[in-house]
Amino acid sequence: MIVVMLAETPQHHIDAVIARVHDLGFKTNVQVGEEQTVVGLVGSGINQDLADLLASMPGVAKTLRVSKPYKLASKEFHPRPTIIRVADAEIGGKEVVVMAGPCSVETQEQVLRIAEGVRERGAKLLRGGAFKPRTSPYAFRGLGEQGLEFLANAREKTGLGIITEVMTPADVELVGQYTDVFQVGARNMQNYFLLEELGRTSKPVMLKRGPSGSIEEWLLAAEYIMAQGNHEVILCERGIRTFETATRNTFDINAVAYAKQVTHLPVFADPSHATGVRNLVPPMAAAAVAAGADGVIVEVHYDPDNALSDGAQTLNFQQFGQMMDQLRAIAPAVGRTLNPVKV
Ligand code: PEP
Ligand code: MN
Repeated sequence: MIVVMLAETPQHHIDAVIARVHDLGFKTNVQVGEEQTVVGLVGSGINQDLADLLASMPGVAKTLRVSKPYKLASKEFHPRPTIIRVADAEIGGKEVVVMAGPCSVETQEQVLRIAEGVRERGAKLLRGGAFKPRTSPYAFRGLGEQGLEFLANAREKTGLGIITEVMTPADVELVGQYTDVFQVGARNMQNYFLLEELGRTSKPVMLKRGPSGSIEEWLLAAEYIMAQGNHEVILCERGIRTFETATRNTFDINAVAYAKQVTHLPVFADPSHATGVRNLVPPMAAAAVAAGADGVIVEVHYDPDNALSDGAQTLNFQQFGQMMDQLRAIAPAVGRTLNPVKV
C-alpha cells in the first residue's frame, strides 16, 4: 500500500505517518517527489482498516493498495522511472545505454583492446565475465579475481563503467570491490540468498531473466533485492527456453514491453544470449530499442571465432559499429537518444 501525502504537507505530518506505520510493525519506503511525498508500506497484513486509519491522518491525500505481488518494483508503488547513474551513463533515462564486451575476460590485452573498441563506438559500460556459469564443468570457467583486476584496469584506462557476474553470496564482497554493476546470471535468477546478499550492497544489480522464469517470477526476484534496501535493479531479458531449436533461446520481446509497463526499473535486453547467433544480434537489439528497452548488453570481441566462450553469438568491432549506427537511427523514433561516436 502507498500513502500519498497532500502537496506541500509540512514535514511533521509526513514524519507522523512514518512513525505510525513503524509502530504498527511495517517497513516504509519514502519517495520525496517535486510535488508530493509518497510513503510506501512493506509487510504482511496490510488491510482496509489500516488504509482507513492512515487516510484519516493529517496531511494524507489518499491511500492506494498495490495490486501486484511485487510491490517495490511496481509502477503503482513508484510511478516515476528509476534512473541509475554509473560512470557517465544514466541508465533508465532518455539515453539508450549500451553495455558491450567479451563473454569472458581472457587476458589483460584482450579486455583492454575490446574496451577501447566498444568505447569508440559508443558503449558506456564494459561487460566481461570473470566467474562464468558454464553448462559443462569442463568448459572455460573464467579467470576469477584476476579477471576482475583486468576489468578494473580497463575501466581506469577507458573511463567505461564495468559490469560482471557474481555467482554466489560468498563472492559478493570480492566482486563488489571491483565492479560498478553486479550481474546476476540467468541461472541464478531465483538464487534468493544471492539476491538478498546483493540487496544489502549499494551497487546496482542487473538481474537477468531465468530461461524458464515467468515475468512475474523475474519481478519478484527483483523484489528480493529491493526488499533488502537496494533499489538499483536493472532487469534484463536474455531469452527463454521454448520448443524452438533454430536459435539458442527465444527472445521474448513481449517481456521488454510488458516490464516497461508494470515497473519503474530500467529494462535491458541481451540479444546475444537471447539468440545465440551473431547475425541475429543487431536486428534483435534494434527490436529491443524499438520496443522501449532502456539499453542493450551485447558480446563483442575483435576475434569472435577464437573467443573462449560464446563466440558464435559475439560481434566483431565492425558489426558492433553497424549495430550502433542502426540503434542511433532508431532511438529518436521512440523518443530516445544514443550518444554520438567519440572517435
Ligand atoms: C553472460 O552474460 O555471459 C551470461 C552467462 O549470460 P546469461 O546468464 O544470460 O546466460
Ligand atoms: Mn556469454
